Amino acid sequence: MAKCPLCGSSLDWAGLIEQMLTLENANEIFQDREKFTGTFEGFVFKCPHCGEEFYGRNLPMKEAEKVFALLKEFKGSIDWENRKVRLRLNSLLALDTMLENWDRKVKG
Ligand SMILES: [Zn+2]
Repeated sequence: MAKCPLCGSSLDWAGLIEQMLTLENANEIFQDREKFTGTFEGFVFKCPHCGEEFYGRNLPMKEAEKVFALLKEFKGSIDWENRKVRLRLNSLLALDTMLENWDRKVKG
């Protein structure tokens, strides 16, 4: 799970993505995987717990890519009018990890 690199608090992916939705060209960014990755790495996020700022590249990129895939896969995942994420990203990521582990167990 994503954690603040400064205070170590767990971060909500929906909240992080909502910070990115304030970008003027957010609509474009969330259409294109490469654009998203590039913007994400250089984006300055603000931790809602300690208020410190850090770059996206300090967050787990694998999770960020999954978040992008989830947002793209589900229609209406982003409420563009209110610039809000409608998906419970942290729950979906947890489920995804659980299934991956299960898969490994079954195959292993
Ligand atoms: Zn923090």
